[in-house]
Amino acid sequence: MDHLSRRQRLAGRLGALDVDAVLVSRLANVRYLTGFTGSSAMALLAAGEGVFFTDGRYDEQSRHEVPDLEREASMEPPAPAILRHCRRLGVSRLGFERHQVTVAQHDAWREALEGIELVGLAQEVERLRWTKDDDELRVLGAAQDATDAAFDAILDVVAVGMTERQLAARLEEALDQNGADGLSFDPIVAFGEHAAEPHHTPCHRALAEGDVIKLDFGALVDGYHTDFTRTVAFGEPTPELRKVHDLVAEAQQAGIDALRVGAVGRDVDAAARNVIAEGGYGEGFSHGLGHGVGLEIHEGPSLGTRSDDTLPSGAVITVEPGVYLPGIGGVRIEDAVVVTEDGGRPLGSSTRELIEL
Ligand code: ZN
Ligand code: ZN
Repeated sequence: MDHLSRRQRLAGRLGALDVDAVLVSRLANVRYLTGFTGSSAMALLAAGEGVFFTDGRYDEQSRHEVPDLEREASMEPPAPAILRHCRRLGVSRLGFERHQVTVAQHDAWREALEGIELVGLAQEVERLRWTKDDDELRVLGAAQDATDAAFDAILDVVAVGMTERQLAARLEEALDQNGADGLSFDPIVAFGEHAAEPHHTPCHRALAEGDVIKLDFGALVDGYHTDFTRTVAFGEPTPELRKVHDLVAEAQQAGIDALRVGAVGRDVDAAARNVIAEGGYGEGFSHGLGHGVGLEIHEGPSLGTRSDDTLPSGAVITVEPGVYLPGIGGVRIEDAVVVTEDGGRPLGSSTRELIEL
């Protein structure tokens, strides 16, 4: 991964932000800009120079992962070292990530960073992360391959009497066997009427003939998350389920077709939502159409009814319409899609037609 060119892109924004440097403290952003994978770090980034801060536990790891920045690995609180480097670099206005920093942290910095003006910034590094580079697209592709392969494998092990929790455990094994480093998030496995809950937590409900099975899960590879949902029929599906599945699939395609460079999030959401509303199930689609995926499972840009995010080339976002019918069940179909100059290109290859087991 080319961390230097990412830092240069951020440095190119300093003038417009009217700051001399940025103190990055959101871990996913630190990882994006430095390559560090541990759980405690900050980066002070000025034009042409930067300093990486971590604690004593990560001295050795960061020596390997962050070879190209000056490092401070210490058991002492980092503020005095931050102040020292700010003075050395001539920083008088220091940007910080206001969506990440607690009031207590801000108070402590204001006290410790004498003579430095703290300037709150919003989502600057996150915005850079919206556009995935070739390395990131390759890793996300590998994670999606593992997800598709696990889905394929799990269809062979589904059986009457199996509980949601047991199926979730088998799903985790299947991801592991197909190259995942771990789970993107705890899988959602919902049988029958439980599929009416968009985010059901797997429980001891046993699978019965005639249930729908809704699976929402994803592989984690090299820190990158995938997110994937299929709803399959176990036994003969009811006519209503078949109808709703067709409608959700049609809405998803309308959403994918609306993806293009420069499209606005709420317009893409509307393209899919209109299909479901016209089909008479508008009330049943109770969430936004999708979200970015990458170093975090939920990131920007967002596709929702109020989103004014403009989609850049290289964004990877989920398109995941759903219809939920209390007491009966529900259907969601979700794929991660790359926004290209030629429109949306789904990352994965699993069929979006109704599978009947
Ligand atoms: Zn999902
Ligand atoms: Zn999702």
